[in-house]
Amino acid sequence: MTFSELGLRPEVLKAVTSLGFEQPTPIQIEAIPHLLKSKCDFVGLAQTGTGKTAAFGLPMINRITETSKYPKGLIICPTRELCLQIANDLKGFSKFDKHIAIEAVYGGTDIRRQMSSIKSGVSIIVATPGRLVDLINRRAITLDEVEAVVLDEADEMLNMGFKEDLDFILRQTPETKSTWLFSATMPKEVANIAKNYMTDPLEVSIGSKNQGNENIDHIYFAVKEKDRYSALKSLIDFNPNIFGLIFCRTRRETQQVAEKLAKDGYNAEALHGDLSQAQRDRVMKLFRDRTLQLLVATDVAARGIDVDDISHVINYNLPDEIENYTHRSGRTARAGRKGESLVLINTREKGKIKSIERVIKQEFTYALVPSPEDICAVQLQSMIQKVKDIPVNEKEIGKFIPSILEDFEDLTKEEVIKKFISAEFNRFLDYYRKAGDLNASMSNSGREESFGDGNRRGGRKERGGDENKQRFFVSLGEKDGLNRGGLLRVICDATGLSSGSIGRIDIMPAFSFFDADKGDVDQILKKVDGAEYEGKAMAVQLSNEKKSSGGGGGRSNFGGGGRGRSGGGDRGRSGGNSRSGGGDRSGRSRSFKR
Ligand code: AMP
Repeated sequence: MTFSELGLRPEVLKAVTSLGFEQPTPIQIEAIPHLLKSKCDFVGLAQTGTGKTAAFGLPMINRITETSKYPKGLIICPTRELCLQIANDLKGFSKFDKHIAIEAVYGGTDIRRQMSSIKSGVSIIVATPGRLVDLINRRAITLDEVEAVVLDEADEMLNMGFKEDLDFILRQTPETKSTWLFSATMPKEVANIAKNYMTDPLEVSIGSKNQGNENIDHIYFAVKEKDRYSALKSLIDFNPNIFGLIFCRTRRETQQVAEKLAKDGYNAEALHGDLSQAQRDRVMKLFRDRTLQLLVATDVAARGIDVDDISHVINYNLPDEIENYTHRSGRTARAGRKGESLVLINTREKGKIKSIERVIKQEFTYALVPSPEDICAVQLQSMIQKVKDIPVNEKEIGKFIPSILEDFEDLTKEEVIKKFISAEFNRFLDYYRKAGDLNASMSNSGREESFGDGNRRGGRKERGGDENKQRFFVSLGEKDGLNRGGLLRVICDATGLSSGSIGRIDIMPAFSFFDADKGDVDQILKKVDGAEYEGKAMAVQLSNEKKSSGGGGGRSNFGGGGRGRSGGGDRGRSGGNSRSGGGDRSGRSRSFKR
């Protein structure tokens, strides 16, 4: 299906092409032909990131063929952020329709300026409910000519207590209008709106009702309460190229976590309701520009954040309302990309995971907080990649080189490398040397207890014998063309094990990890170590294997040199996030300040 088959005007088609949209998304295919009809009601169950703005925006633009003094289209959405985003998208869709004027109206800014823009004539108003009610009460806006009303993120608006405002606004619009409702979830309050305000709506659901986005991996980690913050750091450190959104439950917790992260050298800032509008705008701009790597936010402040490319959502604490989890996790895996939603729970919160699974109709993976060894291996590799990729400014550096070379004359190349790595990495190693195992067990009594070093658990799907899992290190990674399916195939082909007995798999740029049952350790080491993947031999070893004492306390897979790297071949690839499938974010790797 192409856009030209959907029935859009040539000017709108031209705009779509100039935006680089090649094919309509599923919600667009379903919605656009229907919404082009003169009177039609519509209910779209779609997550953010599915292209729903164009699904209602294109037909709305398409229907407006003349200049109008009073709004023909009205879009109501929960937040200022989303309001600006939608208005911006609609301006893009109407860039070849000079007769169409679009105005965003939202609270927290000068109402008089908005009133004068409206007075000069607008075709489409994008509004937050509170400000729109205010404008109606001041008689600054006429809604008599509205032909289509969109209620976007209807569930969010009801969650935020806008029910009365919506009732009031809808009463000001003509009976003859069409009503188009979009919502990520369908609680009964939203169903009631559909029942009370619509006649025979076409109902379209992208994914089944209340279902989450299948491109999101939902993973939870069980920790003791006192280790929650350390575990958060471990998750971040295990993903050096993370571009992440961290959710906390309260403003206070949000501020504290952001401050602690910043103090510990992470590129993190807070977003919550205690900040002024100007402060929030500043933080959002930094995040949108990718200058900020980690945004720590409350549910309310993060509503409407529409940033593509978020690789990870981290739930520092679970939300009180289960429905909010859908909104949180929906901030990743947008526009067809992959993403991870990581959840830190204490052992008493296991029931909440089950409740969320019922709502999102997806299973969670239970996984271990990565071990210090694994984190150090990943960080070291990321640093090596960064060094390889860094451009050298010959002009500036050149003049210092002769004397530097002289200083290093007595050292071999290997010694120089070791020293530079140590200068950058020692503090990081020191921190993780002291960090123990952060995983808490979940015994039936609900008591938290720590696992010993050799008793680690893991698994793609949680099952009874998870404490019997062993983590393995594999010497091939993404740059060798390895992916999860490929690794699974090699393991299963070599051993005859079923894929269900293999646990969590992490493909990193230059090496990988997987979990498998402890009972299969011998067989895996015997058969998979040395097996070939696309012509390359892969080395496999236990991930948390310690060298015998006297080995300098060294761990098997960091500082061990070389095992994780295939044939020394540098293909000049910069370290994009291997697990999100996102773009290259090598410039955003954190430095190891502590
Ligand atoms: P939305 O769900 O409306 O927030 O859209 C998510 C992202 O997908 C936005 O960045 C849109 O610009 C983009 N998008 C929407 N429709 C298409 C399409 N048909 N092809 C490619 N990208 C699209």
